[in-house]
Amino acid sequence: ALPDREADARVRADDRGHVFHSWSAQALIDPLPIASGEGSTFRDYAGNAYLDFSSQLVNLNLGHQHPDLVEAIQRQAGRLATIQPSMANDVRGELARRIAEVAPSDLDKVFFTNGGADANEYAVRMARQVTGRRKVLSMYRSYHGGTSTAISLTGDPRRWPNEPSDGSVAHFLGPYPYRSSFHAETPEQETERALAHLEQVITLEGPQTIAAIILETIVGTNGVLVPPPGYLQGVRELADRYGIVYIADEVMVGFGRVGEWFAVNHFGVTPDLITFAKGVNSGYAPLGGVVISQRIASHFDTVPFPGGLTYSGHPLACAPGVATFEVFERDGILERVRDLGERVVAPRLAEIAEHHPSVGEVRGLGLFWAIELVRDPATREPLVPFNASGADAAPMAKVVAACKEGGVWPFVHFNRLHVAPPLVITEDELRRGLDVIDRALDRADALVA
Ligand code: PLP
Repeated sequence: ALPDREADARVRADDRGHVFHSWSAQALIDPLPIASGEGSTFRDYAGNAYLDFSSQLVNLNLGHQHPDLVEAIQRQAGRLATIQPSMANDVRGELARRIAEVAPSDLDKVFFTNGGADANEYAVRMARQVTGRRKVLSMYRSYHGGTSTAISLTGDPRRWPNEPSDGSVAHFLGPYPYRSSFHAETPEQETERALAHLEQVITLEGPQTIAAIILETIVGTNGVLVPPPGYLQGVRELADRYGIVYIADEVMVGFGRVGEWFAVNHFGVTPDLITFAKGVNSGYAPLGGVVISQRIASHFDTVPFPGGLTYSGHPLACAPGVATFEVFERDGILERVRDLGERVVAPRLAEIAEHHPSVGEVRGLGLFWAIELVRDPATREPLVPFNASGADAAPMAKVVAACKEGGVWPFVHFNRLHVAPPLVITEDELRRGLDVIDRALDRADALVA
């Protein structure tokens, strides 16, 4: 595409003049104006193309401008653009049924929200209503959203400036074999000790005060932490033993990211509530929700549910959700993700880890991977400190700059690069992007002691 300097300047001026951005010191940012997107690629007005290795915010599972999703929205807009939530609607009902069909066991009903944070808000509210208890346990190293309960649940630095927050949240440590909090030397030890720790937190907080335990099935932004074998089963057992509702936050990992409709299916675990958003319609319109088990749903058979949203199950958001199911089934997306993950990403990242001293660990599943960078492979000192920003984060900024120069837009968090491309990425694009990352890591190697 030809550069369009005039459009670039206009978009920049409006943005800098009037748009207030998420999570940012407004005067210190310089958002890149984007002109267009197609499949796994998006373009700026200067004519640069980027392979989207972060699927925007890990939501663009079917890529930019997927024709089926675009058409579903156009068709729906021409037919019935909106309808209020107390009326029944065909696409809302069909999407709920299709989600129930792929959710585990008796998770059969769906409450639709506008995104992931409010899905977690409402899941917690359901748990509190059903148990008559108030407290919620969530993990350190987690992200659950930006609204008041969701940010309180969050176990990363984004919570800090929002405190004092919901005082009835307590945090616990989850498994992280590479940096074990439990001095574990094997995944089995990590599972056993992380569960013993969780049980101790439950005991010390008072089981009769705890409504819910919420955790990301695979921790996303905070590290692509795949739980070691048996951990999620153990959480399920503890929740059962103490009458606590188990909420699985699958906002980032649901809808194919790890080669399953829901990541819990990979682990054979059934939570009481699953929250989702992002991949349900690739973010083409705001949509999230809670999938609800029979036991919890039936509590509200005669007791009214005290919550609601004007846009719950908005037709323009549900229509591309239904189309997502059609595309996944027709194009074998889940199989494709498993195949590309196992055959392309896993071996290529293992090779990268082998020849870059700055790579401490690579880990992941499906099309969801982390490359964790260290200053010293022996001590595992992170390449940049926890919560690094500004000058402290410069080493990561160098790696990111090299990725972008090579035409790859990576996902970065503290000392990690994540590989989370659209699930429709071609094998060639995937290999090309991994080659760019491979070369970019030379800049991190230069800093290894
Ligand atoms: N939960 C997880 C695991 C997420 O990754 C996110 C967003 O990144 C959220 C919740 C919040 O979703 P939203 O930004 O749609 O409110």
